[in-house]
Amino acid sequence: MKRIGVILAAGGGTRMGNVSKAFLPCGAFSVLERALMPFLQDEATERIIIATSPSDYPSVVTVAERYDKPVTVIIGGATRSESSFLALKAAAEQIGEKELSNYIVAIHDCARPFLTAGLLDRVCRGAEVTGGAIPIVEVTDTIRTAEASLDRKSLYAVQTPQAFNLKTLLDAAKADGGSYTDDATLFERQGGKLRMIVGDTSNKKLTYSSDLPYYGAVRVGIGEDIHRLVEGRELILGGVRIPYYKGLDGHSDADALLHAVMDAILSALSLGDIGEHFPDTDPSYEGVSGVFLLHEVKAMMEAQGYSVQNVSAVVTAQEPKLSPYRKELEESLAALLDIQPEDVGITFKTAERLGVVGEGKAVAVSAIVALIEE
Ligand code: MG
Repeated sequence: MKRIGVILAAGGGTRMGNVSKAFLPCGAFSVLERALMPFLQDEATERIIIATSPSDYPSVVTVAERYDKPVTVIIGGATRSESSFLALKAAAEQIGEKELSNYIVAIHDCARPFLTAGLLDRVCRGAEVTGGAIPIVEVTDTIRTAEASLDRKSLYAVQTPQAFNLKTLLDAAKADGGSYTDDATLFERQGGKLRMIVGDTSNKKLTYSSDLPYYGAVRVGIGEDIHRLVEGRELILGGVRIPYYKGLDGHSDADALLHAVMDAILSALSLGDIGEHFPDTDPSYEGVSGVFLLHEVKAMMEAQGYSVQNVSAVVTAQEPKLSPYRKELEESLAALLDIQPEDVGITFKTAERLGVVGEGKAVAVSAIVALIEE
């Protein structure tokens, strides 16, 4: 069956501090543009009607004109059901009375910008079977009345889009006189049998400004280091002491993994490198631990308003075998950077006996970090 999408965007956003939700930023797009996307992607959806407020009308028209698919903008009513009824009537005018029963109308709240084309399609297909379908998700919070808590197993939260046969819903709305609060209730009140579709927990409704996802800037940096492997030194990598008869040589503790990570962080923020900040000509850095230096670098990063999102590193060593220490190294690095161990990935390679690393004379590390703006 052919489809028509209705986006309800006439709400006042009183719980958002009276700002229009439709034009709040949601990543690179506005909430309205995000809400439109699945309807634009869905091939069966022929046209879209947006019900908006008088104040938002000009801006919504500007958005609607951008697309190849016909998008009509109407001024909604004082309540959600009024807006929905006006949109249904506008749809009927566009399609013509005779065609109404051949259409599924999917009514969606603009404030749910994370709808996928997949869920839209499933709900519309459900409506083809029984005339009406709604997406529902299990309730995770305990819900109670003042007297007692309710059995969570029998409770569901209803999402949008809610899809119906256009003729059935319009007839029901006309019979009801527009007093209903919700399209699904109206459909059921007029004897319709609703089909329940498994919704999507990410299809969240933006109610409070804190519901808006945060999209801070992400910066990526790369760092490398290599140190000689010599006798008479401790082998320290990622702040972990690894039992071996050789260790890494250098002015500091020569923790090549931490050095590479530090350079990656500094590089991501265009803050130079560790050679510049902690010169090996400065005696105060003699034997200094990588852990101490990382602490300093982390403070510099935080002063710029960033934190580490994840770290990925490659440690190349012909000897010793380091993979048994993976978990310990990842946990240590995570603790030092204030992130979770699953946000650290370290891989270990030999150099296939090629070059200085392959001859067991050195250990080399490459690291990449992603930093996120707080
Ligand atoms: Mg170094």
